[in-house]
Amino acid sequence: MYMRVYVYTFNHQLNPMYRTHHCGELRISDAGKEVKLSGWVQAARDFGGMTFIDLRDRYGITQLVFNMDDDAELCERARKLGREFVISATGQVRERSNKNPNRATGDIEIEVKAMDVLNASKVPPFTIEDDTDGGDDLRMKYRYLDLRRSPVQQNIIFRSRLAIETRKYLADQRFLEIETPFLIKSTPEGARDFIVPSRMNPGQFYALPQSPQTFKQILMVAGMDKYFQIVKCFRDEDLRADRQPEFTQIDCEMAFVTQEEVLATFEGLTKHLFKTVNGVELPDFPHMSYDEAMRRFGSDKPDLRFGMEFAELNDVARNKGFQVFDSAELVAGICAPGAADYTRKQIDELTEWVKRPQIGAKGLVYVRFNADGSVKSSVDKFFSEDALRAWGEKAGARAGDLMLVLAGEAEKTRKQLNELRLEMGRRLGLMQPGDFKPLWVVDFPLLEWDEDTERFYAMHHPFTSPKKEDVARMLSGDHETMKALRADAYDLVINGVEIGGGSIRIHDRALQERNFKLLGFTPEEAEAQFGFLMGAFEYGAPPHGGIAFGFDRLCAVMNGQNSIRDFIAFPKNNMGRDMMIDAPSPVQEEQLEELYLKQVGVEEKKG
Ligand code: ASP
Repeated sequence: MYMRVYVYTFNHQLNPMYRTHHCGELRISDAGKEVKLSGWVQAARDFGGMTFIDLRDRYGITQLVFNMDDDAELCERARKLGREFVISATGQVRERSNKNPNRATGDIEIEVKAMDVLNASKVPPFTIEDDTDGGDDLRMKYRYLDLRRSPVQQNIIFRSRLAIETRKYLADQRFLEIETPFLIKSTPEGARDFIVPSRMNPGQFYALPQSPQTFKQILMVAGMDKYFQIVKCFRDEDLRADRQPEFTQIDCEMAFVTQEEVLATFEGLTKHLFKTVNGVELPDFPHMSYDEAMRRFGSDKPDLRFGMEFAELNDVARNKGFQVFDSAELVAGICAPGAADYTRKQIDELTEWVKRPQIGAKGLVYVRFNADGSVKSSVDKFFSEDALRAWGEKAGARAGDLMLVLAGEAEKTRKQLNELRLEMGRRLGLMQPGDFKPLWVVDFPLLEWDEDTERFYAMHHPFTSPKKEDVARMLSGDHETMKALRADAYDLVINGVEIGGGSIRIHDRALQERNFKLLGFTPEEAEAQFGFLMGAFEYGAPPHGGIAFGFDRLCAVMNGQNSIRDFIAFPKNNMGRDMMIDAPSPVQEEQLEELYLKQVGVEEKKG
């Protein structure tokens, strides 16, 4: 099990006017010392003769004691302190009779001799404790109070450490940290841009970068050799679960490298971050081709914390008279360990689960490989026990396992089986927090077909280099050939989450033009949007490649959590709103006029 262990070394000066120590610092060895602490009142307990205050700051909580017999007036003042008042207290450290083993400072308390109220506080709208009674919206509106809560604060501290360790590691590897502009040019490729009107250029707009992709490539042309940036990126997408319109990447680019160096460098970075921040030593990362990942797991980001690999059953399950299988392009199953004793009800429920529109399967076939060696299935009418055993063999089934089988069109069936595999992983408790299974997925397709617009899109982005051996076939025009083209593109996946992706880039004008043509750009469109990059390629562009990690996501995964929002100091809600500052908001008529944006147009559209 991993643990977040922060060792603070207090080698910086505190201002003695406010404090001699932090609230997480004092131990039994400090007993007898005169100290001064400052912080927030987390809780007060009044026992008549004695008042106890839990004083909190970023580093911890220390108990203060006020004694009626020693100083009645001081004790009275302590009784009046409300939650979240900011105070400073001077007193003597002493051993506690009633120790709190759950707190680092739990062996001691401060016998207070003097106390100043530095600021009062209104009663906070929710409790500022590890478990709070505040709902999402309220906590976002009062984010500064939410951020005082230890679990939230620890996430932000974690993030800070991760950023610092990233900088250390990459600086050691001679990467240069270089900023790229936020006001750039809009391109229709990729996600939707956030647009910024230009006052000085009427009717013209900047866009906020979806990533610094073209700039980092230009930096390689400029001879910078190794670039990185921990950088905000902006994408105006509908906010499906856990997306943020602005998010952070560790963005990198390297010149004169092949895929191997990029992977080795960022595997090194990942191991360094896990080791220094999580205290976890990761083994070398396996590599798996995209095709293999799809075949074995039905996903380009397989969660390798558990098995349940796909078993393809076409040759043992088709043409045995079961119509559903006979008409299917693919029959495939997974073997859920130890689940043979699932009740009828549990299986019915799973069947309903796979039939939900989000999954879209037509039905679910099961085979129980019972602990006593008997085999029982939902298709006993069509398959003998021996036939079912042959399925089990393909899936590595053991006595006690439950095999779950889906059938249909190959690509869809793999997707559905992937969802079912993940669901079974969850139900069987196979996704252990603290267990980290990274892998590189490599050899991605160059292109992705989009049914709606009936055209190919770049699977990674249009600057990704096709594999050398595929260059000649790029303009063949034949759909299947296009689908089969492979790129020097790769993703880092940890526990089923895509942490980052990158590629070796095209660095040659002619090849870049060919790629744009493949993607349906006319030469004029390509020139208008990316002429600057292709122009740069004509002035001695070195071979180069790079990668970007999703920094927010990395924070979440390293903590075994799903929500990136918890690792962002000021996140936006599902509607893209910042609840604290109440943005977005209307602007004044004059501002719109200055920007040549007619408010009347907006009103018409609304109406
Ligand atoms: N710019 C790419 C992205 O944002 C990453 C890369 O290719 O380096 O996904």
